[in-house]
Parts: sequence; C-alpha cells; structure tokens
Amino acid sequence: MFRLDNKTSLVTGAGSGIGRSIAGLFARQGAFVWVVDRDAAAGRETLGLIRATGGRAEFAELDVSDPEAALLLAAQLPVLDVLVNNAGIGHVGNLLGTAASDLDRLHSVNVRGPFNLCRAFVPAMLARGRGSVVNMASIGGVVAVRDRLAYTMTKFAVVGLTKSLALDHSHTGVRFNAICPGRVETSFVQARIAEYPDPAKAYRDMASTQLTGRMAQPSEIAAAALYLAADESSMVTGSNLMIDGGWSAGK
Ligand code: NAD
Repeated sequence: MFRLDNKTSLVTGAGSGIGRSIAGLFARQGAFVWVVDRDAAAGRETLGLIRATGGRAEFAELDVSDPEAALLLAAQLPVLDVLVNNAGIGHVGNLLGTAASDLDRLHSVNVRGPFNLCRAFVPAMLARGRGSVVNMASIGGVVAVRDRLAYTMTKFAVVGLTKSLALDHSHTGVRFNAICPGRVETSFVQARIAEYPDPAKAYRDMASTQLTGRMAQPSEIAAAALYLAADESSMVTGSNLMIDGGWSAGK
C-alpha cells in the first residue's frame, strides 16, 4: 500500500525539515521527486540524500513567491501527479509586534506561494483528470496560535485555499487537501525557540501544547503527506488532516 510508482511529484521547501522528509519518503515509495527550494545548497543536499539511497529526483531552484518563475518551471516539467506546497516561513508577534511588512512577507510565501504553484501546475493536472495537491497548513490554520498573528492569518488562508480548490475542481479527479501539523522539531521551530528570552522554557512550553507532551518528528508529517498523495486516499478531498498530537482537541 501507499506506493507512488510511476508518479511524478514536486515538493516545495524540500531543502529542510518536513519537506526534506516528504521528498525522501516519496522517493522511497517509488515516485520521481522534483526537489524545489529557494536555497540551492539545501535543495541539492536533499537531492544527494535521495540519490544516495537509489531514489529518482531532480532539483529546481525556485522562490515560490515568484509567479513568473513558477510558470516557467511548470512549462519545463511533465504533468505532475502530486504537488506538495510545503515551503513556508514563520514570524513571532502579536498585533503590536507585527508590521504590515511582516504580514506581506509571510503572505507572499505562505499564501501566494501555494497559489502561484497551483496556478502554474494544476491546469495540466485538471486537463489530465487526476492528481493530488497537498498544502502544508498548520495547527495555526484552524485555531489561533498565541503571538503568531501573521502566521495564523496566512495558515487560515491556506486551509481556505485548499477547500476552495477542492470545491471547484474535485469533480475533475484532482484532489486538494491540507495537513495541519502541531509543533514539529525542525530548524523552523528551533529558530522560533531561539527568539525567546528563555529558549529552554520555550521548548518545554511548545512541547506541552500537544496532548502527547512532545513535538512531532518530520517523518510523522511525511507519513500524512504520503497518505494524501497515494491512491489509497482517493475519496479524500477538501480535508485538513490534523497531525497535532491532539492540540486542537481542546484545553
Ligand atoms: P524549514 O524552515 O525547516 O524548511 C522550510 C524550507 O522552505 C527551507 O528549505 C526553505 O529554504 C524553504 N523556503 C522558504 N521560503 C521559500 C520560498 N519562498 N521559496 C522556496 N522555498 C522556500 O520549515 P519546516 O518546519 O520544515 O516547515 C515546512 C512547512 O510546515 C511550512 O509551511 C511550515 O509553516 C509548516 N509547519 C511547520 C511546523 C513546525 O512546527 N515545524 C508546524 C506546522 C506547520
């Protein structure tokens, strides 16, 4: 089950963390993987890791906030079976600590990014009548996260984007789903923790927001992406899959 043989996939933000884990798992499950990142060194490192274990992959440098570059890349690639919009950036701040420029920066990557990639790659998927799009939202896409105003706003938008696309286009055979992770131990979270005056306390606090009392590992999010990418989830569209250690269940 959950094989991706003969499928072409593309994973944005695949140079690090969750995206690297997804790209590696997809390759191990038989997919050809387009490793996409704006950080060429990080992306090439992921490519090397995949090829070292016999996986099939290529790297493409792309800033997902650039719509023309996304269209250019789509024109060069075959029709995708699986598109994973994973690239995202964070910011710590409530209203008083969030400038309009912070919101614009997060919006350009977290919202315009998946939108740009969908505009570039989804028309061919619709025309062919099959495919799976997986958008990386967040716990912050379904409940507000304290001191994450801009991040929460953008991740709610990712869930909205996903549901709108599913509503408008699922009849074609292309599916659209979001994943909402809680805290995952990646450099993304480590960078946020480092911004606190007491990082050790911040780590403990962040782990305790999950009912499981710990953060997730990237592989636990990759497993969800594999499920949504594979044909076994063929009845699943318009959903946001919570991989949050029970965070959203209640307090
Ligand atoms: P990460 O920082 O470890 O990796 C993100 C990758 O995206 C990096 O390789 C970076 O170079 C790339 N990237 C950033 N901006 C880009 C752009 N404009 N164009 C192309 N590539 C770009 O982050 P992560 O923790 O693996 O997070 C991945 C996704 O998961 C993000 O969308 C994030 O919001 C989401 N998420 C993370 C957590 C968590 O706790 N780590 C929780 C919920 C959701």
